[in-house]
Amino acid sequence: MKKVDCIVAAPHFLTMEGEGVGYRAQHAMAIDCGKIVGMAPRDAIFKDYRADRVIDNAARVVLPGFIDAHMHTGEAVLRGLAQDTGHWMMYGLGPFEEQLTPEDRVAGAQLAMLEAVRAGTTTFSEFSRRPDHLCDIFRRAGVRANFTVTIREAVDRIYAPGELYDFDPSLGEKSLATCLDLFHRYHETENGRFTVMFGPQAADFVSEKLLLSVKAAAVAAGTKIHMHVQQGDRETYQLVKRCGLRPIAYLDRIGYLDEQLVAVHLTDADDAEAALVAQRGAAMVVCSGSIGIIDGIVPPVKAFQEAGGLAALGSDQAPGNNNHNIFNEMKLTALFNKIRSRDPETMPAWKVLRMATIEGASVLGLDHKIGSLAEGKQADFISVDLAAPTMMPVYDQPMRNIVPNLVYSARGNEVRLVAVDGHIIFEDGQFHTLDENAIIAVNQQAADTLGRKAQAEFQRIDGTNARFMREEKL
Ligand SMILES: [Zn+2]
Repeated sequence: MKKVDCIVAAPHFLTMEGEGVGYRAQHAMAIDCGKIVGMAPRDAIFKDYRADRVIDNAARVVLPGFIDAHMHTGEAVLRGLAQDTGHWMMYGLGPFEEQLTPEDRVAGAQLAMLEAVRAGTTTFSEFSRRPDHLCDIFRRAGVRANFTVTIREAVDRIYAPGELYDFDPSLGEKSLATCLDLFHRYHETENGRFTVMFGPQAADFVSEKLLLSVKAAAVAAGTKIHMHVQQGDRETYQLVKRCGLRPIAYLDRIGYLDEQLVAVHLTDADDAEAALVAQRGAAMVVCSGSIGIIDGIVPPVKAFQEAGGLAALGSDQAPGNNNHNIFNEMKLTALFNKIRSRDPETMPAWKVLRMATIEGASVLGLDHKIGSLAEGKQADFISVDLAAPTMMPVYDQPMRNIVPNLVYSARGNEVRLVAVDGHIIFEDGQFHTLDENAIIAVNQQAADTLGRKAQAEFQRIDGTNARFMREEKL
């Protein structure tokens, strides 16, 4: 009998192995040194292994932790400040984002972690200018993190609709240097929990020369490029003005559409453009909640998948989503695509659950480590309470209803346990690695200051939310 760190047993496992959800009844999982070393019927596991810690509950389903493939966690400190408005980036987010300090972003990232871990997220794919400011808190939280460093050449200021961006090559060179520095310092560190990708903000914010330098650097480093692609009509406008091509056609011309690219949003792409991205081998991240709120658009993920593309889910940011909850993204992605195609068989529950787990892992190039529960993978898993009202009652026959209830009924508070690399970071409402009260207090302090600092610009722009304030609608 082999001694291991932990055995997890449950009546239901969704291993996400194979082409579906990999359902296994009455199984158990042996975990040692952060890895799954055994996954088999419970009797076999208890015969072969013993452990100091045995997690065995009669009313649970165990599945891989969720992968949030695109996040700007630092902006959680601006939650709820930029929805229901046009010109989202410049007029909605702009007045607040320009006031954010590095300390505010650290506070926001911790708030995002509280929220996301509670709802079962174990992998955070963070996209920001200085993720190195966040590495220490991601390390302490014990979550898995994929950091992408924003590379941008356009000068930071609020641009009016139709105004072409100003470029400053020194900004681009500096951000690429930051990216390379972070890659060498953090890629594949923390027992492989940290990875680093290169992140041109989008084709409109970076010159062709710099895009090609980034591509060459990412090829040399052997990592992926994580980039917003055709993320709105403003990006399309900038590219058409600059070079006469829409963003996807432009990226194809310069050799950007390939297996190395993780293309985020495709908001302003039509079905044919999405299909081209898929056919070239690039992956996609769909952020249904965010793009629904900030643009009123359902991105063409169905056409992308039908063309053979692999897609993940992302929560994006909290000023205009307004949350970091993959249960929310699964449900919205399923519903929006059913509605868009007027077909209830579009995007079934099992499909979005795969996007949140094994397909998300493949999109980030992490499927050899995580995304399913199988021998040899890292033990990133969650346990969900089947006795919660939203998950009850449980049917085993003539069909199982656990997967539809996870996607269409659960809201995230049904998650009872969250583990990364075999370490339990959240259990029965309590964080083992984060000080929840301290994080909430520091975010409220930051908000009080940010609100005061953003006041003048918010009033000057006088956007939709300023009007709503005057009209007592907020
Ligand atoms: Zn983004």
